[in-house]
Amino acid sequence: MKNECSIVRDLLPLYAENMVSMETAAYVKEHLERCESCKKEYEQIQRSPVIPQTGGAAPLQTLSRKLKIKRIQTAALTAVFVIALMVSAFAMLSAPVFLPYSEELVTVEPYGDTEILLTFDEGITDFYCIIHDDPDDSSVCRCDIEAWTTLWDKWFAKGNEALSTTVAAPDKPMLLSYVPNDGSENICLAKYDPDAQIPIETIGKATGIITLPRLALGYYLILASAALAVVAAVWFFTKNKPNARIWVERIGLYPAAYIVSHCIVSGINWATHSMSRDLSLIVFLSVLLYSGFLLAHNIWYLRKEIRESNGG
Ligand SMILES: [Zn+2]
Repeated sequence: MKNECSIVRDLLPLYAENMVSMETAAYVKEHLERCESCKKEYEQIQRSPVIPQTGGAAPLQTLSRKLKIKRIQTAALTAVFVIALMVSAFAMLSAPVFLPYSEELVTVEPYGDTEILLTFDEGITDFYCIIHDDPDDSSVCRCDIEAWTTLWDKWFAKGNEALSTTVAAPDKPMLLSYVPNDGSENICLAKYDPDAQIPIETIGKATGIITLPRLALGYYLILASAALAVVAAVWFFTKNKPNARIWVERIGLYPAAYIVSHCIVSGINWATHSMSRDLSLIVFLSVLLYSGFLLAHNIWYLRKEIRESNGG
């Protein structure tokens, strides 16, 4: 009986932290129910969060510190993944869905003497227009207009207000084009001519120009995959150096986080018509996911250490 008590007392700190197997827990519990002095000892352990440093308690103190770190990191990990989930949902719901040309999509009309008014259809979430000189003919300039909706607006928005904007009328002829961003030709909406009697002539026909998507995201994806492959090779060759291996894993988690973020923001596409939006979202999400992955990696090793010190 006395021998059993000393075994139970050795187990009590681990039992208090739920760090014993189910059988051991049942054994300790059963003993506590019938042994008053061990029960008192257990109650005292539960009351004092810090295990008193007497003789052989130092390893237990390290263990309790590790358990505490593990608990904090697990809480942080949960928070990071909740935020990452919210950012992912935002990225998907706010992704631009470009619209094919239709007559109602955007109207062009004069606004006072010095401005041109663009009015968009109600279904449009946002637009972008850029004025630049015609690359082939500097006596003419161009105004390229993009417009899009989002999944969010398609599903949830009711009765958007029609968007409009004014652009300053240039002192030379300007061609206003709608850029559908779907692989089809840009549509010339109207021609503005400062010297004409009626300055704006509505046109509405294909220009023969197609605005191509940007491919840089694809190159970054290939770069991340190559980095991951290199790290995997190094990991394979550091089999006998566990400490180096941990660092190799920590480095390799970034390209992995980048690839996952790319898939969340851009799907399996790597051609994009909204490069700066996509890239900044991917980088932001990848940093978030990377910190989550690092935490998960730490927790995994902590659990391993705790299990080892528990078993040994
Ligand atoms: Zn006892």
